[in-house]
Amino acid sequence: MLEVAKLHYAYAGAVAVSDVSLTVAEGEIVALLGANGAGKSTTVRMIAGALQPQGGSIRFEGQDVTRAECHEMVPRGVALCPEGRLIMPQMSVLENLLMGGYTQRDPVRRREAIEEMFALFPRLAERRNQLGGLMSGGEQQMLAIARALMSKPRLLILDEPSLGLAPKLVAEMFQLLKRVNETGTAILLVEQNARQALRVSHRAYVLEKGQTVREDRSSNLIDDDAIRAAFLGI
Ligand code: ATP
Repeated sequence: MLEVAKLHYAYAGAVAVSDVSLTVAEGEIVALLGANGAGKSTTVRMIAGALQPQGGSIRFEGQDVTRAECHEMVPRGVALCPEGRLIMPQMSVLENLLMGGYTQRDPVRRREAIEEMFALFPRLAERRNQLGGLMSGGEQQMLAIARALMSKPRLLILDEPSLGLAPKLVAEMFQLLKRVNETGTAILLVEQNARQALRVSHRAYVLEKGQTVREDRSSNLIDDDAIRAAFLGI
């Protein structure tokens, strides 16, 4: 469903992404691994339309979306849950979810989407009227994911969803991604937590200095000595 070829991006002359190519098939979970500064966030921001590529191409469901912006990608079915949560702290849980569902104009459908999120995230249901900023880190992360899901994406892109979460919550969050995937949503996952990311994903890419240098089934990468040394601390 997603085909990314030879992406390039430089911030004020500093090259962040020089040659990134990747694909995501319908129903897949694909992980993007790499050291700090390898270009993972820049790559997914280009795919979601938050940054405009300076070279290369992006196709989604057969259409060229290289130049599309976020507000065009969301209705096409691509939602990004950015690094650092970025929920609205002064808005309630419910209001944050409504923001995520802005593309759905039918209030009945929007209400249904909210009820689906409350079923998937019972903690959010319990706290629907609480201000986003008063939720714990883990709850804010769940809210950010739920908000991205409100647009009913066919491809959900997550940038470091486990960052700053306690180990128990990390495990819960990965379980949740599995459940979301089982409902038919493809996932592109940027993660520092390589072990969990490789366990939950079907395939993975490794980024080094702005380039995709490896691609394989995640189960093969877990057993690979170079990957174990670089990312799993073994
Ligand atoms: P991290 O896990 O640390 O977020 P990453 O793999 O996601 O790393 P990017 O955030 O894409 O990597 O950054 C790639 C390179 O681009 C890094 O050298 C980074 O310092 C630089 N960079 C990122 N954002 C900006 C920016 N807004 N302005 C200038 N340089 C940037």
